[in-house]
Amino acid sequence: LDSDEFRRQGHMIVDFLSNYYRNIEDYPVRSEVEPNYLSGALPGSAPNRPESIEAILEDIRKYVVPGLTHSQSPNLFGYYQANTSTAGILGDIICSGFNVMGMSWVTSPAATELENLVMDWLGEILKLPKPFLFSSGGGGIIHGNTGEALICTLTAARDKVLKEIGEEKFSQLVVYCSDQTHCSLEKVAHIVGIRARNIRKITTTKATHYGMCPDALRLAIASDIRAGLVPLYLCATVGTTPTCAVDPIEELCKVVEEFGMWIHVDAAYAGAACICPEYRYLIDGIESVNSFSFNAHKWFLSGLDCCCVWLKNPIVLTRSLSADASYLHGDTKEAVINYKDWQVSLSRRFRALRLWLVLRSHGVANLRKYIQSHVRLASIFEQLVAEDDRFEVFSKRRLALVCFRISPSALYKKQGETQRSGDDKAEAISTDDDTVNKVNEAFLQRINRTGRVFITHAVVEGTYVMRFAVGATLMEERHVRMAWKLVQHQADVILSEPI
Ligand code: PLP
Repeated sequence: LDSDEFRRQGHMIVDFLSNYYRNIEDYPVRSEVEPNYLSGALPGSAPNRPESIEAILEDIRKYVVPGLTHSQSPNLFGYYQANTSTAGILGDIICSGFNVMGMSWVTSPAATELENLVMDWLGEILKLPKPFLFSSGGGGIIHGNTGEALICTLTAARDKVLKEIGEEKFSQLVVYCSDQTHCSLEKVAHIVGIRARNIRKITTTKATHYGMCPDALRLAIASDIRAGLVPLYLCATVGTTPTCAVDPIEELCKVVEEFGMWIHVDAAYAGAACICPEYRYLIDGIESVNSFSFNAHKWFLSGLDCCCVWLKNPIVLTRSLSADASYLHGDTKEAVINYKDWQVSLSRRFRALRLWLVLRSHGVANLRKYIQSHVRLASIFEQLVAEDDRFEVFSKRRLALVCFRISPSALYKKQGETQRSGDDKAEAISTDDDTVNKVNEAFLQRINRTGRVFITHAVVEGTYVMRFAVGATLMEERHVRMAWKLVQHQADVILSEPI
């Protein structure tokens, strides 16, 4: 690693990325390539001799960029954004530059201690109860993603309970979630050894805005206990993926408290909003849960991958996940945090640097304003949808997500017009649920094919809905208004065609 060459190439890459961001709106938001587009375009085996950074950058421009769906585009309204910032990207460069292993305290005390500090800072900003902070016996860790947070906490919960009731009862353990919980939980339960038949997905309905109903949970647990099963773990979500529904933590905790279950709160998206006093209520009741996670890589300008997890009693986790080898210990006599015992892998990146840069470069007040500005943009979009009677807002808007669709009534109206037109060939058009879904699906495909925006969908209680998520770092009101114009224009087109 030659430091002069590093500087030269580094400047070129920073220039390249700076231009990328300057021109990001020129690209089709969703990549337009077909599967296997790269095969044949690039050599099938690695070069024997070194190639220049100029040649490599040229290939990135030519072959990689067209295959990108531009996650940082201000015209991406799909999924929940994974946003980053100057601080997030540069923090990552420093992290990669140091490239410490960070698995135990001794492998870089700064990596461990800065992570402790940042997790306490963030915990305080979120007004987490003191027992979640290192300063009061709890603590936090930055995992890569929610799946890792769930694997670690579910494993800890499993081991704790099996120690109490005996290993032979493994097959009786039951995990609870709702039918809106992120699919990571099911995958993790499978990895941890919980059978599919022992995962209870509590059905949600529009009546509770798709939040988990405490009474339904109580009934499910009671029925499992009658059947000789053992309730183990509840994953509640604050801000579900389909509609940003919120499971009522306080009430759910009351239901499960007598069963000694582990409660994890997944606030992957909505957690960031809880730094604003007006949204902090979303995690009311958090003092009663065992663990809480939110993704700073979603709505907190940190860039992938940065899932922050706090636990009130980390020792339960470390008892389960400790991995030891004498070479991993330093010669320090003090009790230290060894993050290898809090996670799946041993080695780990210095992710805390990134988050530390984000917090310092922006400041908490600006991070709050940033979230509030996105909520305001989403409310503008919601208002525009509500004012156009061809559309309906599907579910209560939470934070910066608007779920909407072409309304069945617009299709009924169209059906009436077609029949009144006296066209002999006009047959009765079915406007059943299936047809409404198909029209909305075709509508969204049309919108996305323009390449000017990218919106994704969810299917909730059998209904196909479009999810308009505001949250890109570079997003401004003009992007939201442009997207709405596009949506309206495509509605003019699709509603003028036969169903
Ligand atoms: N949980 C919720 C509620 C989510 O919305 C998502 C993704 O959108 C995830 C978990 C998984 O995200 P990741 O794998 O980035 O942690």
